[in-house]
Amino acid sequence: MSSLLERARACMPGGVSSPVRAFGSVEGDPPFVARGAGPFVYDVEGREYVDLVGSWGPLILGHAHPAVVEAVARAARDGLTFGATCAAEVELAERILARFPGQDMLRFVSSGTEAVMSAVRLARGATGRERILKFEGCYHGHSDGLLVQAGSGLLTLGDGAAPSSAGVPETVARLTDVLPLDDEQALRAYFEARGGELAAALIEPLPANAGLLVQRPQFLQLLRELCSAHGALLVCDEVISGFRIAPGGATERFGLTPDIVTLGKIVGGGMPVGAYLARRDLMRHVAPLGPVYQAGTLSGNPLAMAAGLATLTELERPRVYARLEELGAQLERGLAAALARHGVAGSVVRVGSILWVALQAGPAPRASAAIDPAAARLWGRLHPRALERGLWLAPSAYEVAFVSLAHEAFVIERAIEAFSGALAEVRA
Ligand code: PMP
Repeated sequence: MSSLLERARACMPGGVSSPVRAFGSVEGDPPFVARGAGPFVYDVEGREYVDLVGSWGPLILGHAHPAVVEAVARAARDGLTFGATCAAEVELAERILARFPGQDMLRFVSSGTEAVMSAVRLARGATGRERILKFEGCYHGHSDGLLVQAGSGLLTLGDGAAPSSAGVPETVARLTDVLPLDDEQALRAYFEARGGELAAALIEPLPANAGLLVQRPQFLQLLRELCSAHGALLVCDEVISGFRIAPGGATERFGLTPDIVTLGKIVGGGMPVGAYLARRDLMRHVAPLGPVYQAGTLSGNPLAMAAGLATLTELERPRVYARLEELGAQLERGLAAALARHGVAGSVVRVGSILWVALQAGPAPRASAAIDPAAARLWGRLHPRALERGLWLAPSAYEVAFVSLAHEAFVIERAIEAFSGALAEVRA
């Protein structure tokens, strides 16, 4: 073990600031990252890796994009934070809202967790109801009410779900119901029984936190209809999908009409940012206009706003999303061919520049219960072997891979070669 790792483990739980970084479900120790450039990261020993994690989604332009770095440096020279509104904040808000035509106003926060937590408070404040609904396998940050897991489907009906973390009070978890994805029957039954008590249903319209569980449009549309019919608000959590699969995220790509949208990651260009967006009649409830309190010392800070603006400006260039599609498709083809070549059962699920290698036979899962746990063990062995070959994959079978605009074709080829080599070794 390196001395840095020893020191990290002595002063931070698991040696990390966020659990997945500890490499708990893969073989080997986590390298320490010294820097990133475009599609690459470099560890403290100078080793280069093709990075398919991209800081878990924000880095759609790659690492240290010159325009983003320059914008942040320029902003920094003028001061890091004021706790007062800055012009860049207004501009970024306008630019984001222009991409989400159903929403009129937004509030900036500093993380995706805060965005969703605040959206839930707004939904409760606006509807006067307390119950919320989420879906198995969807992650919405680590606020108490959203860290819950399902009992088995409708078993949880009326009683809320069990906390999936120690420290989450049962009384809080009881207000959150959990349903399986991809199950219209369960959805109908649930709304019939509880729809009138529901403040909001939350969903990742493209669930990307338990593999990539692409939903059928009928399921998403039914959820929209049932929310409307029962006076519940639909919260689309686009922390990952926003500006990733289209400028207007899944809302645009799948033609959804959510009541509240939550964003994070890309809109902060690599700086800590989240946002929640809604119609004016809903946002009127948020303080100081209304009684739903929500605040933040560093919210809307000038550095984060500058990074977000620079990123969105780059994303407005022509053919950007077509290019992400091409690069994603190249990686998909290569990874799928490697699986076939080495006789490993699996498929590559992809939407635009988000990819997931499902290491199991049969059709790609659309619900978390359909994911084979054996895949996690295989991934755990594959991961260090990919790392050795210069490929930085997510240290968990349930996390997706992200391609950036900096991943040129030759970089994708290198990633495929490393993946293929790692597969060959695992098979042998
Ligand atoms: N919602 C979704 C869909 C996410 O993927 C995440 C984090 N990956 C969050 C919320 C929480 O965001 P953060 O980690 O910035 O708090």
